[in-house]
Amino acid sequence: MRIVLLGAPGAGKGTLARDLVELFSVPHISTGDMFREAVASGSELGKQVQHILSSGALVPDEIVNRLVRDRISKPDCKDGFILDGYPRTVQQASALDEMLKNMGHKLDAVLYLKVSEDVVVKRLTNRRVCPKCGKIYNLLSMPPKKDEICDDCGTKLVQRDDDKEDVVRNRFRVYTETTAPLINYYKERGILVEIDAEADHRNTVQKAVEALKKVIA
Ligand code: AMP
Repeated sequence: MRIVLLGAPGAGKGTLARDLVELFSVPHISTGDMFREAVASGSELGKQVQHILSSGALVPDEIVNRLVRDRISKPDCKDGFILDGYPRTVQQASALDEMLKNMGHKLDAVLYLKVSEDVVVKRLTNRRVCPKCGKIYNLLSMPPKKDEICDDCGTKLVQRDDDKEDVVRNRFRVYTETTAPLINYYKERGILVEIDAEADHRNTVQKAVEALKKVIA
């Protein structure tokens, strides 16, 4: 099963991916997570992309394409993967088509999680993450039991730099201008499945699973 999760930052792609990984047993590939890990480790790549990430702009296509090509060539991706946050430009989408063609594969579906800017701003500015174990909270909809402390490991939660309101609005603008054209790109190819992601998360998961069962049947 080779699928892409498409949608604005804050649409819930990462959360949905974690549910789908358990159900379908294919790896979750998040380019955002890969870049954040590179920054945290202080690697050459991390140094190159650090400022780009904290401004909410996009990392150049060649860098992202190379990272994804290497990752999907790994043995754990032989039966498929869930791409989250990639592709984000039409150039990346056609690079992905080319990579898959060379490997004798194609995408099965693109799940498009639809949300408005207001919902995105509310969700992301209230998001907090545990810097130690990676658990994600939302101060409004999924708060920790104790004030801004991780339930699982007791570490003080932090806000990602790019979840501050001005950066969130910039990320949404970048999404609208550069990534939203992919909705039509995949609609034209007949593989787009649109899901209302403003409703309850369980509903999003259910819709996604129904759609995937049809495409992989
Ligand atoms: P995310 O967690 O998916 O919102 O990604 C965080 C940041 O990583 C983005 O704001 C970009 O700076 C960078 N990034 C992640 N994926 C891509 C991509 N496919 N193309 C360009 N930049 C990306």
